[in-house]
Amino acid sequence: MAQDVRVLNNNGLDRAITRRACGSMEVLEAQLAADPTQAQRMAAIEAHAQRVLSNPSLQRTTAGTVIIPVVVHVLYNTAAQNISDAQVQSQIDVLNEDFRKLNADANNTPAQFAGLVADANVQFVLAKRDPNGAATTGVIHKLTKVNSWGTNDAMKNSKRGGDNAWDTSKYLNLWACNLGQGLLGYAQFPGGSASTDGVVILYSAFGSRAKFSGGTYTTTYDLGRTATHEVGHWLNLRHIWGDASCGTDQVSDTPTQQTSNYGCPAFPHVTCSNSGDMSMNYMDYTDDKCMYMFSTGQSTRMNALFASGGARASLLTSLGGTAPRAAAPTLATAYPNPASDVLNLSLPTGADASRAAVHVFDLTGHEMKQVGYNGQGQVRVSSLPRGLYYITVGTGTDVTRQRFEKE
Ligand SMILES: [Zn+2]
Repeated sequence: MAQDVRVLNNNGLDRAITRRACGSMEVLEAQLAADPTQAQRMAAIEAHAQRVLSNPSLQRTTAGTVIIPVVVHVLYNTAAQNISDAQVQSQIDVLNEDFRKLNADANNTPAQFAGLVADANVQFVLAKRDPNGAATTGVIHKLTKVNSWGTNDAMKNSKRGGDNAWDTSKYLNLWACNLGQGLLGYAQFPGGSASTDGVVILYSAFGSRAKFSGGTYTTTYDLGRTATHEVGHWLNLRHIWGDASCGTDQVSDTPTQQTSNYGCPAFPHVTCSNSGDMSMNYMDYTDDKCMYMFSTGQSTRMNALFASGGARASLLTSLGGTAPRAAAPTLATAYPNPASDVLNLSLPTGADASRAAVHVFDLTGHEMKQVGYNGQGQVRVSSLPRGLYYITVGTGTDVTRQRFEKE
């Protein structure tokens, strides 16, 4: 409905992206101001994380890779914004490299941090089953009248021109859209509202030019690392500088650093008496090609969410990544039951009534030859004595056996 669409920024111009900007902390501040109970939920999640971090016996074993089903909502107002499934897949591929330490550029990590580069043991798969159990590609393309969005979550709401989240306890929801405000993306931290849980990415920062050159990309942010950074937030990681001068990110093996880094800093960039910022960490603000690692401590913190009692443990039992089994063939049914004169057959879709093999047996297995099948779905049973019988209907692919009563 057009009147439901709120155009948040209708000047038609995208603010140029001159350096990385992530809206996650701004969104968090707004959420905490609007809902005082969120701070309590987040405090409980933090306490759980610290319990798990301090007690290795509570941590998940590395044997179990977490598989996270993903649904991507592609919202477009122009053809360019309607990024292709191949561009979407390139983003999933980047996530699977970065969260499994399979990215080739992890080798660029300075020797000082090389021992900290972590395989977070988290994998992502486009959903194969939607919340109703139907088969899906995991990618939704939706035309919208909204030309530029913002950080107020409208893209997560169908009534505001967006697309509602799939069950956020079972799927990671990603929205690719023209985010606006000069932002590359924003995520919702664990503990926020279920209906807005997920990650938003500027469409042209979604995916990897290196993996799929035919897409629509913003230079410098075209290797898919915006999503790696934002999914890091979604998995409870803070910016590596702790969003304060020499702040803390609640992770012990990442050095304290003064603030965010941009571009491609030379190493070491010494601040806060450290021996070099970990500016190549995905949770800094450097360019896509200059961020290439999570630390072991970050990996442990993320995985605490999947430990017993963790805020994202429900994803472990999601069936979203598993294709639905083919629907069971609809079997023939005979009605009415009881019948006095004629049994009508309801045959599976596509079955040829003229070729159906119809037989009626008494309960001891003797065939009742006096019944007649007319080849058009009707079985005359008027000559049968009253009692209970079986009818079998063969359709070439299935044989249905059903008990019925002759009255
Ligand atoms: Zn961020």
